[in-house]
Amino acid sequence: MAVSVRHMLDAKGRNVVAVTRDRTIEEVATILNENRIGAVVITSLEGRIAGIFTERDLVRSVAEKGAGVLSQPVSSAMTTTVTRCREETTLNELMGIMSSGRFRHVPVEDQGRLVGIISIGDIVKARIQEVETEAEQIRAYIAS
Ligand code: AMP
Repeated sequence: MAVSVRHMLDAKGRNVVAVTRDRTIEEVATILNENRIGAVVITSLEGRIAGIFTERDLVRSVAEKGAGVLSQPVSSAMTTTVTRCREETTLNELMGIMSSGRFRHVPVEDQGRLVGIISIGDIVKARIQEVETEAEQIRAYIAS
């Protein structure tokens, strides 16, 4: 059976670190560091996805505009065209989405609500488990 985002969220949990668009980039940098994560999702007051801000955006905005950017709202540097997936999305589909989009985080949406996030680290973990399970099945088949 194909591994889906639902399987991955069942294993890792559905908590997503999210902030509103008015938080400063400096505050968001602290949040990224304290949670040891690479991305935060920016949500509206109704809980809808408004953008994504990753460590890549932090580096880019400081390199382009200088340290003064840290006091700017995160909305000034976030990506607003966010690619999302659903719980039904498969691991293979997600690998294609990340590879073609050249990003390492994909929020999971259900009926317009943020219900999880998958990072490239989660993908690697799930893929290793999938390969190990396949190898076990092949070994069991050969032995039988
Ligand atoms: P990342 O590799 O996830 O650190 O992100 C690289 C760039 O892609 C940054 O500018 C992010 O804002 C953007 N990005 C990250 N995830 C997504 C996504 N799911 N949809 C659209 N852009 C994204």
